[in-house]
Amino acid sequence: MKTLLLPSGNAIPILGQGTWYMGEDPVHKKREIDALRLGMDLGMTLIDTAEMYADGGAEEVVGKAIQGRRAEVFLVSKVYPHNADRRAMLLACERSLRRLGSDYLDLYLLHWRGSVPLAETLEAFESLKKAGKIRDFGVSNFDRNDMLEASALPGGDQVAANQLLYNLMRRGAEWDLLPWCREHAMPVMAYSPLESAANEQRRLLNNPHLKEIARRHDASPAQIALAWLLRQEHVIAIPKAVDPAHVRENRASLDILLTAQDLAELDQAFAPPLRSTPLDMR
Ligand code: NAP
Repeated sequence: MKTLLLPSGNAIPILGQGTWYMGEDPVHKKREIDALRLGMDLGMTLIDTAEMYADGGAEEVVGKAIQGRRAEVFLVSKVYPHNADRRAMLLACERSLRRLGSDYLDLYLLHWRGSVPLAETLEAFESLKKAGKIRDFGVSNFDRNDMLEASALPGGDQVAANQLLYNLMRRGAEWDLLPWCREHAMPVMAYSPLESAANEQRRLLNNPHLKEIARRHDASPAQIALAWLLRQEHVIAIPKAVDPAHVRENRASLDILLTAQDLAELDQAFAPPLRSTPLDMR
């Protein structure tokens, strides 16, 4: 699996697996664990989760999936904004680690910005890093102004990644956020790369231009949407899939090489931004 380097020098795989909506219902647990294990077997060893997902249920699913395989995995979890102060973050991280059955996270992200001062959150991240509980820390749903603010604070130079809503239908970040991250050699983790909500996902995957490009590559529209993200420098994609056919397809999207004509057609069908817009988020 191709990797990118975080500013710390640690490597992060460019294609991973999301876990939102996993762990909600025990009936599906085995299927979810199997999907994550299949993804790992295929090289998608970055697993993204959060204390929020199913109130810790997704972390428990991940914990089962990585049992006995921790060393293979690049493990990402996220802290709730209301737990992002000095004391609460320490406890939240311990709870996440317990559910994950691990003694460290590769990357710990602030899920979105809340009311705890950023300076305090960065301090809390730094102390977790010093204690060896996390290898890197970063943010999620941060717009360019948030990034500017964070990077000016003590510890801000260690922010390793920004996870944001980015896919063919949500290209606003290309205006000034992606360029800023690129300039600072900071990987962007594209979440909802396939537009998770059913109606929006249908709108994306049924786009006739996307379908035509997929046909030319003997691929699915979802694979083209992922290949479009993965071809970009500094971009990581974390699709979530429980269906094993989806898991296999997602891994195979890495092998698709889009041509200049494909890219031009995608720009026609899904226009890049012409002005600054507020960052979309789920
Ligand atoms: P997504 O990965 O774009 O879409 C997930 C949906 O797409 C599922 O219904 C899945 O079905 C389906 N799917 C997966 N692969 C497919 C394929 N090859 N063809 C057709 N359908 C496919 O959306 P997401 O779950 O919102 O985002 C991915 C991950 O990003 C999350 O799971 C989470 O870890 C993270 N995330 C982070 C934030 C944040 O605020 N930081 C917000 C949202 C998400 P099956 O499951 O049935 O296979």
